[in-house]
Amino acid sequence: MDKTAARNRISELSALIKKYSREYYELDAPTVSDIEYDNLFKELEILEKDYPEYKQPDSPTVKVGSTGAKKFSQIKHKVRLYSLDNTYSYDDLKVWYERLQKNFNLEYPPKLVCELKIDGLAISLTYKNSEFSFGATRGDGVVGEDITNNLKTIKAIPHSFSEKIADLEVRGEVFMPKTSFEKLNQKQRETNGKLFANPRNAAAGSLRQLDAQITKSRDLSMFAYYGRLDSNELKIESHSKMLEFLKSQGFNINPAYRVCNNIEEAIDYCKEWDTKRQNLDYATDGVVIKIDDFYLQNEMGFTARAPRWATAFKFPPEEMSTIVEDIEINVGRSGAVTPVAKLEPVYISGSTVQRATLHNFDEIKRLNINIGDRVLIKKAAEIIPKVICVTQHATDKTTSFLPPEFCPSCGAKLVELDGEVNLYCPNHLGCPAQIKGRIEYWVSKDCMDIDGLGDSIVEQLVDKGLAKTPADLYRLSIDDFMKLDLIAEKSAQNLYEEINTSKNPTLPRFINSLGIRHVGKETSELLARRFLTFDAFKHASLDEIQKIDGIGDKIALSILDFFSNSFNNEVLQKLESYGVIPQEMPQNNESEKFKGYTFVITGTLSDTRDVFADLIKQNGGKVSSSVSKKTSYVLAGENPGSKLTKAESLGVKIINENEFNQLIGE
Ligand SMILES: [Zn+2]
Repeated sequence: MDKTAARNRISELSALIKKYSREYYELDAPTVSDIEYDNLFKELEILEKDYPEYKQPDSPTVKVGSTGAKKFSQIKHKVRLYSLDNTYSYDDLKVWYERLQKNFNLEYPPKLVCELKIDGLAISLTYKNSEFSFGATRGDGVVGEDITNNLKTIKAIPHSFSEKIADLEVRGEVFMPKTSFEKLNQKQRETNGKLFANPRNAAAGSLRQLDAQITKSRDLSMFAYYGRLDSNELKIESHSKMLEFLKSQGFNINPAYRVCNNIEEAIDYCKEWDTKRQNLDYATDGVVIKIDDFYLQNEMGFTARAPRWATAFKFPPEEMSTIVEDIEINVGRSGAVTPVAKLEPVYISGSTVQRATLHNFDEIKRLNINIGDRVLIKKAAEIIPKVICVTQHATDKTTSFLPPEFCPSCGAKLVELDGEVNLYCPNHLGCPAQIKGRIEYWVSKDCMDIDGLGDSIVEQLVDKGLAKTPADLYRLSIDDFMKLDLIAEKSAQNLYEEINTSKNPTLPRFINSLGIRHVGKETSELLARRFLTFDAFKHASLDEIQKIDGIGDKIALSILDFFSNSFNNEVLQKLESYGVIPQEMPQNNESEKFKGYTFVITGTLSDTRDVFADLIKQNGGKVSSSVSKKTSYVLAGENPGSKLTKAESLGVKIINENEFNQLIGE
């Protein structure tokens, strides 16, 4: 980044952060999520470090929060309320801890106190002679707002306590329980009042009321997390002891706090509460980790903005808001057409997200989502981000988003299939968006079984425009293969030969290769056995297909759809013209020798289990994967395992390969 760009970005970031900060602290109406704010903040900190000459005197990295909307009188804090450095990374926590140990020459790892970071509003309470004197918001950390009267209405804040103390400052977080928040919004809805976005905003809005009676009517609570005595006659020497003292004086202390012996224990605490927090009736967004010992805290002191002896671990955000820049139409390898939201890039759970799935067009209708809308997106571990809801509609929205009529990849008219929410491109064999997947499937083991044509070669063939349909494979020359990056032993000659020797597959394989929806290996076999030639299969009527045992209406309709599509037929014609012609099924070699018999095959035989399964099926028998009382025979090879034991216990007849061959030979 050059100097001008740096200066511009610093000024831009400073203004943005101030704006967001005002929205958050004064208006209780943030328009960005915490993590977006934190990221901008970090970017600004780094730039200011690299270009200190452009740092603004009132930079938000120095000033904390906001001075308030001036509806309350101001109170200057006796001791500044710092904000905390925070991180989303456990590694950062370790670095923080190790640096403290090193910089302050600590011989032993210092004890830590972990507390849940309550997502509420920070306040400061001042007690004089054991009586509540006044209370203020944090404001910008130096000056806050006098909200004494409102704070007095909160039951969790004691008006006095028993220990005789001249001067005590207590800091804490005012929050609204989740259940109370739901009730409040329900009431607001009924009375057409303003709805609050989350419990934090509801707490802030309730606390900063000019009429204390309104505050009183809202169910607010507080956890105290800090105590400061002007003179330490009580000899409280650590943060954990202070918490216990506050508790003994009637303050509400979060029961989940824990003293940890080292950073590893603290990290365990963070991990534990990342999941447990879901069950709490108040919102938490992280863990505050402090050095327990007050003497050490004093030694370590503060940076310009935050104490060195404390840091905050923030739980990974699950939801973020961003703008939908476009709604793209994606055609999957199976022909399913799905809408995808293209997003203004947003950083969430460790990576930048630019796209989120919208699942299907019903979902778009349900969410009432349109280009330009601000949406909330969610990313759970290793799952494609999804759009949860629209938080703000684009202002210039006039029409709603309509599902496409035609495939964006090949132009075919999209179809709706019965009982499915997706739209499909019916052009299975001729649609570029589906082609890589189709060809990969075409050459796979249970289909045309073309050895050596791996995914990377298919990818190259498609990308270089050499194959637009599976049929194209059969007109490729050795020269064409020479244009590819081939793995050494798979020479162009070999590939060419592999493809050409695969031209006459068995009929079941060929049917399976077509990738007709709902027609897999088993169904292909049933169809081949019923129709014997590809031509007969192709011209079969709905009725003929439906009558086959094991084939339902859904499959039958899907087959008819496939053959009524002109692109598919074009590809089939090409295949034929290139000499790709499936074998006819051998006629009348089927016996009914095994009719009514069910076999289970187990252990190692002289050939693959598929070969034996085919033999059984050709003779009218059935093959099952598990042994039951209905099993007629268990064909057992070497190392048969548990199936044999089960067969023995059920008294099922067990035969070896020789006995099996005798059965067939009879
Ligand atoms: Zn298409």
